[in-house]
Amino acid sequence: MKKLFYYILILILICFILPIVWVRKNKKNPNKDANPEEISVIEDYDYSKYTTVKLLHTKTNEVEEVNLDDYICNVVSAEMPATFELEALKAQAIVARTYTLYKIINSSKHKDADICDSSACCQAWISKEDRLNKWNEDVRIENWNKIVTSVNETRGKIITYEGKPINAFFHSNSGGSTEKPIDVWGGSGYPYLQVVQTSGEDNYKQYSSSITITKKELISKIKASHKDVEINFDEEDCIKILEKTEGGRVKTIKFGNVELSGVETRTILGLKSANFTFSIDKDNIKFDVIGYGHGVGMSQTGADALSKQGENYENIIKHFYIGVEIINM
Ligand SMILES: [Zn+2]
Repeated sequence: MKKLFYYILILILICFILPIVWVRKNKKNPNKDANPEEISVIEDYDYSKYTTVKLLHTKTNEVEEVNLDDYICNVVSAEMPATFELEALKAQAIVARTYTLYKIINSSKHKDADICDSSACCQAWISKEDRLNKWNEDVRIENWNKIVTSVNETRGKIITYEGKPINAFFHSNSGGSTEKPIDVWGGSGYPYLQVVQTSGEDNYKQYSSSITITKKELISKIKASHKDVEINFDEEDCIKILEKTEGGRVKTIKFGNVELSGVETRTILGLKSANFTFSIDKDNIKFDVIGYGHGVGMSQTGADALSKQGENYENIIKHFYIGVEIINM
């Protein structure tokens, strides 16, 4: 009789009490088996709908709807030399994908398109046919396969900050130090875009350049946007760098009676970056420039330099974008 009582007690325990305990325990953490970052992102945006991109061809003004992965292959092959390390190409693929998604989500400046094919406006794009024709025949397939590998092996990966895709700016060569967006375009900036140093960028041809123009040319170029400019070249300090940015670029410079930002000077004179010095001789002014591009976000040659130093794409991305995560779309 006593034995039967114990059997019934055990049966009650198995049938009623254990399931209640199990359900309660699991209620505390419903996403126990899921990646919490993925869940929070999917709640905010439905990434599954971003499988195509409406691409504006700036030369023809046509908008073409293209597959996202194909588009990223074309962008990577236009933006970065195929001779760069595979880890650098992977970083570029993730950065390009993130940049594209950011444009789509935060409504593009182009009316009927998500993004355009111009590096001066959005990011560079080249058709596969044109890309292959620009490479020598003996490296054509090898190069293209390397680009496709960089996209396939990072498929669906994007960079997020606090669960949202970042504004993944990138440029050619930082000259050793990147720049805060506030020092390039003004505005309030982004917490993940800070000044970071990268070694090894001086090994690339994009690192240094120079421009020599006559004094007369200099005045006429500035006059196009500042018609009252006057420079008395007999005066000491007639041209003077007044302030530098945190990233070491020219913030403000005086040309005679006119004060310009380093960024505006770069545009007016066609310099490769706002990190420059100058020297004046009898007739000419020479500008020596360090780095190539605006300097914000990932430096492409910096990414290649880091991968040559043994860093993988994740370390490269986290070097240039502070406090970010890499997640699957
Ligand atoms: Zn554009």
